[in-house]
Amino acid sequence: MKITRITAVPLSYRLPEGKTVTMGIGSTLKRDCIIIRVETDEGITGYGEAHPGRSPGAITALVHNTLQPLLVGMNATDVVGAWQRVHRMQLSSHGLGAGTCLALSGIDMALWDIRGKAAKMPLYELLGGSHRRIPAYAGGIALGYQPAESMAEEAQSYVEQGYKAVKLRIGDTVKNDIARVRKVREVLGDDIDILTDANTAYTIADVRRVLPALADIQAGWLEEPFACNDFASYREAAKITPLVPIAAGENHFTRFEFGQMLDAAAVQVWQPDLSKSGGITEGVRIAAMASAFRIPVHAHSSATGLNHAATLHFLAATENAGYFEACVSKFNPFRDMFGSTFAIGADGCVEPPKGHGLGIEVDESIFEKYPMVDGPGYVVKF
Ligand SMILES: [Mg+2]
Repeated sequence: MKITRITAVPLSYRLPEGKTVTMGIGSTLKRDCIIIRVETDEGITGYGEAHPGRSPGAITALVHNTLQPLLVGMNATDVVGAWQRVHRMQLSSHGLGAGTCLALSGIDMALWDIRGKAAKMPLYELLGGSHRRIPAYAGGIALGYQPAESMAEEAQSYVEQGYKAVKLRIGDTVKNDIARVRKVREVLGDDIDILTDANTAYTIADVRRVLPALADIQAGWLEEPFACNDFASYREAAKITPLVPIAAGENHFTRFEFGQMLDAAAVQVWQPDLSKSGGITEGVRIAAMASAFRIPVHAHSSATGLNHAATLHFLAATENAGYFEACVSKFNPFRDMFGSTFAIGADGCVEPPKGHGLGIEVDESIFEKYPMVDGPGYVVKF
């Protein structure tokens, strides 16, 4: 079964007035996604999601002009071979590393969808897992900078839906952040796991002040306090307290960068994103590396039901799997455009889809509703 064509479809929507969320990387104006379609000579078509990297047009051009010619004609089930060819011929050799990794991730996901459809198996089964319940936290673009009472109220609304864990956006001022996390703990009580994400907005001085407060409220983790390549700060932060693990990985690409995290001995929670870090093939390798050191993998997940489904399958087949990041974004039509992918249960858990491959029926007629919008996805409020 040969690959005959690879297509990237960039989609966008603008956030309506009042639906903007502010966090450490700015305030959201619009959201983008890229759907990858891989066609074969046996009539099986696979779909994947590539993260748009705030530049959906560039990633789309990369798929069409550079990666497609490398892969057309290859065996569609040879995910290792396809991955290696893109890595050697483009990702590691022409200065477009992270962008190529985003594009490759979507292609790899689509190839796994093809493998599952060809084998007539759901992806979790193909990967060696089982249909099981997976704990989820309320995440996505939600719980942003707002008054402490309002954040606590929003968090409480997710608990009422069934969530046993919520993730708060911090990385504002240390004082505001501490006030917010304390208020949320007070309102939610002791039985809910409170996770925090600074979206790279902290300095090491900020982290020295915030971590004791996070330890005090028994936060589950502090995510991305620093830029992805600032391993020196990560190393320093890990020494401050053993009570709050440091999390990162949504901006780390391939097993080689996760290997650097291991070397730095500074990140105790790994968060690869299957639409960014190198796809399912690389996610399996990253999780295996982490498992040897008892590091849990709480995969980050992005915009559409394709990545959400891929992540659920992956977690259902990963020994050291942690939470599923359930997108509770205030306004995300991409999440449900192929139908609902997950439903939170009273036990705080979700399940992977049961259909073959990713188990998502893609209706391409929906794409015309979301034509790509150029321009910035976030603005920074000064
Ligand atoms: Mg994050």
